[in-house]
Amino acid sequence: MILTNELLFDYQRCKRRSFLNAYGDLREVDPKTELALKIQQDSQTHRENILAEMNVEKLPYSRGNWAASARATLDLMRQGVECIANGVLLVEGTSSLPVESSQDAALLSRPDLLVKQAGKSIFGNWVYIPVDIRFSKRPKRDYQIMAAFHSLVLAEIQGVRPEVAWLILREKGKYTVDLAALMPLMSSIAAECFHTLDKQIEPELFISRHPCEMCRWFSSCHAIAKSTRHISLLPGVTSKRYEMLLKLNLTTVEALANVNPAELAIHLLDNCRGEPDVAAEVAATLKLQAQAVAYNMAIPLPAPLDFAAANLPTYPVELYFDIEAQPEMDLAFLHGVLVVDRTARRQIFYPFLAERPEDEGIAWAQFLQLVERYPQAPIFHFCEYEAQTVKKLGRRYGTPSSQWRSLLYRFVDLHKWATKTVVMPVESYSLKTLARWLGFEWRNKKANGAQCILWYNQWLENPEDRQHLDSILLYNEDDCRATYILKEWLSGFLNQVYRNHERLSS
Ligand code: SF4
Repeated sequence: MILTNELLFDYQRCKRRSFLNAYGDLREVDPKTELALKIQQDSQTHRENILAEMNVEKLPYSRGNWAASARATLDLMRQGVECIANGVLLVEGTSSLPVESSQDAALLSRPDLLVKQAGKSIFGNWVYIPVDIRFSKRPKRDYQIMAAFHSLVLAEIQGVRPEVAWLILREKGKYTVDLAALMPLMSSIAAECFHTLDKQIEPELFISRHPCEMCRWFSSCHAIAKSTRHISLLPGVTSKRYEMLLKLNLTTVEALANVNPAELAIHLLDNCRGEPDVAAEVAATLKLQAQAVAYNMAIPLPAPLDFAAANLPTYPVELYFDIEAQPEMDLAFLHGVLVVDRTARRQIFYPFLAERPEDEGIAWAQFLQLVERYPQAPIFHFCEYEAQTVKKLGRRYGTPSSQWRSLLYRFVDLHKWATKTVVMPVESYSLKTLARWLGFEWRNKKANGAQCILWYNQWLENPEDRQHLDSILLYNEDDCRATYILKEWLSGFLNQVYRNHERLSS
């Protein structure tokens, strides 16, 4: 068993992912999405740009023939080469980790760079330190643990532990990792990872947005979770709560649907900052969520007064609003509005698009013009982003505050409404999941917000080809239509609940 820095990296994000990368059936791996490929490519370009600015000795990248690459790296280290790229550090055995070593055990680490520094090592009056180049602005903990792992393996090779390790981050440049503080933690994670992989102990799956949504094993894990009705598919079951539910033997949707919420609340206290009211509410919602899934039905919540059925407005004209943005450029490039005119039985979609980033203000002004044509119409949206962006754009473009503030009074956040008033048999309360449960389907099944950012970038790179813009408009229109479908359903559902309540209490 060879413990590599990559397996260790994955282990920190998901133990199961590391296991599947070592032993899984590669035929079950999802094809890389366009977004994943783009991230990989950007990261590679970033690495190459940094290397181009340095005087490095680049070893050929040779996956599979690690022993030969490790020998070549060692040769360069002995020669005292200033900076080695693509080096491979390989040591037999696991004596530097607190684990029972098995036959053929080894540690393999591949820092982006090995940089020569003054000091004493088995090579002479120099030592090497590991450096990783990251396409990230933050020195995330898992990056730092990797740097500590490089240092551990490097120490075995050069006979002395490097005093520092560096991360070269996007925009922020060099970050020094506090190796002294991180070594004990890294050592314990690495030992646990080695034990799991060496003994082939398959970690249980736990589906969560992070880290599953970008994982290449997602379809495989999700299919297993679906077929076993795994409770990690229930919204509200976080990994901490899951551990607690396992201890209570509440491992199936049915068991959770029949739980005594008062008893469950006692066990949830620690998870709810010791607040009994919060624990009671979480317990009751978890039970309802399990019931909704078990019986495949929507269940009304005892909603606070603000969310009474009568407050979800139905007007002759309603607007459904969705923004597409490019966060890195701090740019809202598309305001899509679906105007639903109930009297005229007409629905018209208006996209206000900034084809060039500098046209953001024009798209904003066009959007304002449209919504002010219908001053009485409520503006439905999903989540807080649209309201936040309206505030931001109002300030950015000097729009009178009375103008954008009056707009915000007309905003109705349907995500808030859905989560406060009803429990649905879904895996998450995203617009996609809710609208799909209601039978709506996006015309482009692969489209999503992140993909739209990618399309917009591609459009900016190649403005001859409008296909990417067309895809964005189609997706945005479907988002607006999905919001409308959700509102129609929620309105009918809440009115029905209200009528039943009236009937029972009369
Ligand atoms: S899909 Fe989720 S549970 Fe499965 S391996 Fe990936 S991250 Fe882990």
